[in-house]
Amino acid sequence: MYKLLCPDRSVLRLQDIDLQEIKKMGIEGIIFDLDNTILPWDSSEISLEVSVWMEQVLANGFKAGLVSNNRRQRVSKIAGRFDIPYVFRAYKPSKNGFRKVSAAMGLSPEVVAVVGDQLFTDVLGGNRLGMFTIWVKPLSSREFIGTKVTRQLEKMMVRILRAQKLLK
Ligand SMILES: [Mg+2]
Repeated sequence: MYKLLCPDRSVLRLQDIDLQEIKKMGIEGIIFDLDNTILPWDSSEISLEVSVWMEQVLANGFKAGLVSNNRRQRVSKIAGRFDIPYVFRAYKPSKNGFRKVSAAMGLSPEVVAVVGDQLFTDVLGGNRLGMFTIWVKPLSSREFIGTKVTRQLEKMMVRILRAQKLLK
């Protein structure tokens, strides 16, 4: 059961994701979480660094999409900027949003990676579909009050995963 909460990779920043490595592994598309993965939770402005990196992802031939639990306006604005498919109010870790965006990218789940800052939504949801999961440190320490609660559980889970040598 713990394995479903264990990411395949763990990175400090989006820019640390090894695009060549995952391409060699057969990954063809990347589904991103929005809040605290691409956008700081308390901002609606994407940073230049992240914006440039997202363009690199697309230029490298990857399909991309967004799956977010947040509202339509916030999600569609960023999706529109990169012209990528999205699902808002996805209720992650539900599989539905991940399935819909994979289908919109024309890809099956086995060749899709999920990138997000939360084990209990992004990593769990992606792992449930057998996707390659990449856990990234949150962009901002500010977040939704409900998230602060799950962060405590997340810390506990990280200790368990490390103790079992599932997570470095
Ligand atoms: Mg997030």
